[in-house]
Amino acid sequence: MRCIRCGRCQFECPVFLHTANLWGGSVYGGPMGIMWTAITESIEKASYLALLCLGCGRCDAVCPVEIPLSQLIWKIKASRSKI
Ligand code: SF4
Ligand code: SF4
Repeated sequence: MRCIRCGRCQFECPVFLHTANLWGGSVYGGPMGIMWTAITESIEKASYLALLCLGCGRCDAVCPVEIPLSQLIWKIKASRSKI
């Protein structure tokens, strides 16, 4: 919930560079989109999107409010085993 929606994580994400807003969520794309999809729609939908994340951590390194995006996305992805 600390996300200020600056979009910096999107520009650093190698997956987003290839997919743009086609990946991440219906409102916001990329790493921030997966997070917001989990909050505003469902963990199940976000977990499907999270499968494409490489876990490289580039998004973490640039987030100005230090959100551990790759860890959160990993947890969302791991929730698929419980669905
Ligand atoms: S950890 Fe995932 S979401 Fe973050 S930059 Fe890498 S591929 Fe993109
Ligand atoms: S870089 Fe951080 S604050 Fe900016 S949109 Fe991404 S998650 Fe949100």
